[in-house]
Amino acid sequence: MTMRAWSVVAPGPVEGEPLRSVERPVPTPGPDELLVRVRACGVCRTDLHVTEGELPVHRAGVTPGHEVVGEVAGLGSQVFGFAPGDRVGVAWLRRTDGVCAYCARGAENLCPRSRYTGWDADGGYAEYTTVPAAFAYRLPGTLDDVSAAPLLCAGIIGFRALRRAALPRGGRLGLYGFGGSAHLCAQVALAEGATVHVITRDEVSRRLALELGAASARDLDEQPPEPLDAAVLFAPVGDLVPVALRALDRGGVLAVAGIHLSDVPALRYETDLFYEKELRSVTANTRADGREFLTLAARYGVRATTHPYPLGRAPEALRDLKAGRFDGAAVLVPEH
Ligand SMILES: [Zn+2]
Ligand SMILES: [Zn+2]
Repeated sequence: MTMRAWSVVAPGPVEGEPLRSVERPVPTPGPDELLVRVRACGVCRTDLHVTEGELPVHRAGVTPGHEVVGEVAGLGSQVFGFAPGDRVGVAWLRRTDGVCAYCARGAENLCPRSRYTGWDADGGYAEYTTVPAAFAYRLPGTLDDVSAAPLLCAGIIGFRALRRAALPRGGRLGLYGFGGSAHLCAQVALAEGATVHVITRDEVSRRLALELGAASARDLDEQPPEPLDAAVLFAPVGDLVPVALRALDRGGVLAVAGIHLSDVPALRYETDLFYEKELRSVTANTRADGREFLTLAARYGVRATTHPYPLGRAPEALRDLKAGRFDGAAVLVPEH
């Protein structure tokens, strides 16, 4: 049996042709893996980094995609607890070693031997993919395939960032930047009783923030209307670190959500850090983060804004993402 898949044949700008449509054998799952028939796959900015070569090549000709919703179509010989037809989610974190000091203390997001879907192994820009059964998520039935896909990366990362920011119950939260991850994070915080203040340059995003229930939405040159107990920096702009730190109340925490951040300018201890303000980074996520977020997303009715594309138009979806032609998330849907 063969399938259609996209392969990064020559990493480079998506305006060229770094991706090629290929006919490949349907993959055989390893002993501890599931074969998954893809029903939807979200398009994440990291896919753009893999396709354009901003992330080094880990697997030649890799198939990108790590926000996969699909159904189990085959089982490795050592897999228990799954059956054909089960709906599962496949996310960025694909494997850890399970034995290092970080894994042992529940911080598998820091495992030095971790592997990633759509970078180290073929992902979801295809009709089928595989996933280690221990890293597959069960998905709440209340979420349809296309709506669930962006939750698997944008949603989980935004959620970990929110938890890293240690927002107290009913607290005041600032979100700097308001893209795919932030608008999901905001919905969780609001459902848990937070007062949310959004600071972003983009006017369309400010409108969306207010529609979702944010108490204020302001441009980058303005301060939030009250001191913040916690803040998350989603925009990859290091210049905003001191700005956000100064907006914190005593004891407040700023979490930086992005993988990339431009250089942070010099901080002034007295205004930016004294009174026990904290600055924290966020690195990937654990499976526990993912399970908790997916449960809460279903309970709170968290909704991603989505734009479906047929799988055959994956390069167009990546070009549109790069050009900022839509708000929310593109989701690829195979025709099967
Ligand atoms: Zn480890
Ligand atoms: Zn991602």
